[in-house]
Amino acid sequence: MIVVPCYNEEEVLSSTIEALSDELDRLMEDELVSRRSCLLFVDDGSRDSTWQLLEQHARSNRLVTAVKLARNAGHQNALLCGLQRAGERGADCVISIDADLQDDIRVIRSFITLYRDGCDIVYGVREDRESDSWFKRTSAVGFYRVMARLGVKLEHNHADCRLLSRRALEHLKQFREVNLFLRGLIPLLGLPAARVYYSRKPRTAGTSKYPLGRMLSLAFEGVTSFTAKPIRFVTGAGFVLFVCSLLAGLYTVISKWSGTAVSGWTSLMLSLWFIGGVQLLAVGLIGEYVGKIYSEVKQRPRYLIEKELDTASEMPLSVP
Ligand code: UDP
Ligand code: MG
Repeated sequence: MIVVPCYNEEEVLSSTIEALSDELDRLMEDELVSRRSCLLFVDDGSRDSTWQLLEQHARSNRLVTAVKLARNAGHQNALLCGLQRAGERGADCVISIDADLQDDIRVIRSFITLYRDGCDIVYGVREDRESDSWFKRTSAVGFYRVMARLGVKLEHNHADCRLLSRRALEHLKQFREVNLFLRGLIPLLGLPAARVYYSRKPRTAGTSKYPLGRMLSLAFEGVTSFTAKPIRFVTGAGFVLFVCSLLAGLYTVISKWSGTAVSGWTSLMLSLWFIGGVQLLAVGLIGEYVGKIYSEVKQRPRYLIEKELDTASEMPLSVP
């Protein structure tokens, strides 16, 4: 089964459906996947005509099935919904790909071949990101560096274009966290994995659903979901500041005794602002983790399904 999360994708959806159906048809003809395979679109609470388009296509295209989420749950949750539905329908393996087809659909064939060779996970890795903006490229490099520094294992330049076997889906099910960052979770499954390299194309139509704010929040999610090192860093910084203030105190006492004390208003104000700022930052960071615990404890559902297009039959992607 091929899972495609879509959020306000009316501009690209029709061509995406066409391209993916053609590719799936070819895979069936070559007997690489079973005839029961299908596409599963997850409409992540779109406000444009994405769902209507999906209904329309499903009527004429037997490969199209779809799920509509009650509200926008975010890319990661929409993707998870698709993966879980695929698992429930008994798919042998699931491939996830973005609706804008920036990722080369020819990777699907390579994914299947590697799966048949025994890999449980196949990562699609962006070989070059020339099509991405300078800002997106630089921030991505920075993100992977920070994550590596913090000791989080991530596949470099791999987004959410990948294949997961049924076994991988079963393992994934046991990770119950609400704050989801799939890219970080998949390497933790510890199953045989492979990579397929491709070059990422620019979006043909529509706009990115990951503006700066959302990108930063995903990156932050990634950091805080996988490591508590930032808190340890804050503790370390606190300790260093404490030692510095002891030294400064010592210096003041000595200068008082030696009679060179200045009426140091500037230094007083500077240290006041500095310490205040560091403290606020530290409290904010700790608050971030506490907030995370709060949302995990509540165990709210990660997505709610509003409706599902009647799939005449159960048609998972199964590999003979
Ligand atoms: N997406 C989604 N829900 C959201 C935001 C995005 O399902 O809240 C989908 C979107 O339709 C697309 C994929 O996630 O299929 C990746 O989004 P996009 O291509 O806009 O991200 P970019 O490639 O710019 O990082
Ligand atoms: Mg995209």
